[in-house]
Amino acid sequence: APRRNRGFVAGAVACALVATACGAEVRGQAHSVGDIAGLPVTHFESGLRPDAPPPELTVENVSDSAEDRLALAAIADVSAFWTEEFPERFADEFEPVGRLLSYDPQGTAFEICGADTTEAAMNALYCPSEDLVAWDRGLLLPLLRQRFGPMAVVTVLAHEFGHAVQYRLGDRAGIDETTPTIVKEQQADCFTGAYFRWMAEDSSARFRVSTSEGLNQVLSSLFFIRDDPGAGGAHGTAFDRTYAFQLGFSSGSARCADLDRADVEARITERPFAPEDAGGGDLRISAETVGMLQRSLDDSFAAAEVDPPRIVETGGDCPDGTGTPPASYCRENNTVGIDMAALAELGQPIDREAEFRGTESAGGMGDFAAFAEIVSRYVQGVQLGVGADVTSPEAGLRTACLVGAWTNAIDVEGALLRPSPGDLDEAIAELLQPRSLIAADADGLRVANGFARVEALRLGYYEGSAACTDTYP
Ligand SMILES: [Zn+2]
Repeated sequence: APRRNRGFVAGAVACALVATACGAEVRGQAHSVGDIAGLPVTHFESGLRPDAPPPELTVENVSDSAEDRLALAAIADVSAFWTEEFPERFADEFEPVGRLLSYDPQGTAFEICGADTTEAAMNALYCPSEDLVAWDRGLLLPLLRQRFGPMAVVTVLAHEFGHAVQYRLGDRAGIDETTPTIVKEQQADCFTGAYFRWMAEDSSARFRVSTSEGLNQVLSSLFFIRDDPGAGGAHGTAFDRTYAFQLGFSSGSARCADLDRADVEARITERPFAPEDAGGGDLRISAETVGMLQRSLDDSFAAAEVDPPRIVETGGDCPDGTGTPPASYCRENNTVGIDMAALAELGQPIDREAEFRGTESAGGMGDFAAFAEIVSRYVQGVQLGVGADVTSPEAGLRTACLVGAWTNAIDVEGALLRPSPGDLDEAIAELLQPRSLIAADADGLRVANGFARVEALRLGYYEGSAACTDTYP
């Protein structure tokens, strides 16, 4: 959540953001929007193939539940991947994982890695000393399957296998006793991405995954299993986790093994709350905070030298009745029309407990989700002002990219609005919603593909607005 620092305007960020934002380079090389790290965009139902060969595995305490059937197929599949991949990339045989255990935290207790499974609800884990992968089939797997679909279950097990791979590689993956947890987690997510690449290339005998809705399930489940804002040290934020996954998907498992501490520390966004961030990082969406957002945006985009769009409360539509509520860019008078009440509701803090109960959340997506929606409409005016095309799939991704660039540009000491821990994750969660405008063009037409949306936001965040116009001309 942007936290406020009164009396200081972040003038210094202006040039970083806009000097090149939408300037002369608007017409650069063609970039294919229909391209997911070199694979075509596909739409079909992702999941187990009807003709999948039955898994031949020994699993302790296994049930015949749908979740366990899915888990076993996932384990057989990810094992098949590593059996192929390991000799190819690391010139070595892949030794199968020694022990597999399914448990119900409400059922029989087992001791794994020195812990009691009745206390390990909502977990899946790899225990190096026992070379064991275990999963909670009672609560975690059903919740993942219901909320996100079967690929979420496959994601979690593939991640645990990523740890098994990492321990097999040892120093070839730079892993020893001193390796920080976050590096191991990033590597495991990256290995997960490499596996899903193989599946997306249609190499799996058991599963098929589409590069649109299927990978959206994966990315959403990475968001679900994230560290709480400000906590630090375990899995990483959703922003960091999706980065690692996409790296593995795009660049393969050898690149994952190269991920090291320096690499991770230079990039990781996870950090603690600042002492003054007393509200846990959530601002209320109100006339006052939207006024701050207006000033922050005007300032950040000043270098574009365009007439800055005005944010006005209109109920979400434009004066002529068209629009994309709850926020619209209105060409007729260069305004951003917003529905303050709807955005305030969207901006409510995320209800983490409801997320875990699997019940409908009473909360929203967090303040930054609501701010990012407004920003996505404001940058339409900026792009139009410099003569960019604002109605195309490229424009939708360029919009997400500019939202990312703005987020990074305001992340400076003393900024009027500054992102706090968890804000990037709110932007990603919101971005992955089918209704979100963050990757939509001026008419509200959205890029359907979550993978491309997240990639665009991250590109802007790390490389600034010039990269947005270069990549999405
Ligand atoms: Zn892990």
